[in-house]
Amino acid sequence: MYINIGWLYPDLMNTYGDRGNIIALSYRAKIMGIEPTVNKISINEPADLISKMDIIFMGGAQDKQQEIVNKDLKIKGVYLKKAINDGVPGLYVCGAYQFLGKYYKEANGNIIDGIGVFDLYTESPGPDVPRCIGNIVIESKLFPKIKLVGFENHGGRTYFANKKQAFATVINGYGNNGEDKTEGFFYKNSFGTYLHGPILPKNPELADYLIKKAVEHKMINNVGVGRDRPIKLKRIDNTWENKARDFVISKL
Ligand code: GLN
Repeated sequence: MYINIGWLYPDLMNTYGDRGNIIALSYRAKIMGIEPTVNKISINEPADLISKMDIIFMGGAQDKQQEIVNKDLKIKGVYLKKAINDGVPGLYVCGAYQFLGKYYKEANGNIIDGIGVFDLYTESPGPDVPRCIGNIVIESKLFPKIKLVGFENHGGRTYFANKKQAFATVINGYGNNGEDKTEGFFYKNSFGTYLHGPILPKNPELADYLIKKAVEHKMINNVGVGRDRPIKLKRIDNTWENKARDFVISKL
């Protein structure tokens, strides 16, 4: 079995090691017995390529790059919104996460439109208010046995009314806005989060979750595999990943 991993704007949206998420997804999929193909989708690629993806990833960026991507998302955003609404699993970090909401107001007051697939908005309080920077520890009901770790660096504060849609609760750090203890957003099979780090090598359970959802989604839609042929994914030993994560948590 194969999966298509779509990496949106790798040349523009890729900060604080976010590319490690693509490495983790590909590496773990291979061990599980799936053949991954990484498809870089940036400004020069056709928008409908997004419709062929089984997992989508987009990383963070500074405001300048977000302004460039914003223009291109006027077209690609239609395909991205459809993929997310159709349940294609995805991970959207920091600047990418902000794009999925209604808008992002930059520190200088400029408004960057979002594609509005997540019911949220993001505002930067301005250049005089400190950014949310540091290591972060969160807890998510989706992964009840573990704490997840990462690194955040964002000026934008994200808000939404329905707290049940948060990906996680903040144990240590800022998360969505530094006020309500929520971190990220979860909708259909898509995660928005402020966790760089990169998040997937540090928290392999999330990588595996996305891969499993991609397989499920492919089978439901009967693309490439028969519905009647469930495939058994190989389990991966996470001893060293867990030790690394425990070490980070013990330091905070
Ligand atoms: N420009 C956004 C902010 O500062 C996103 C930063 C990022 O992706 N690291 O809020």
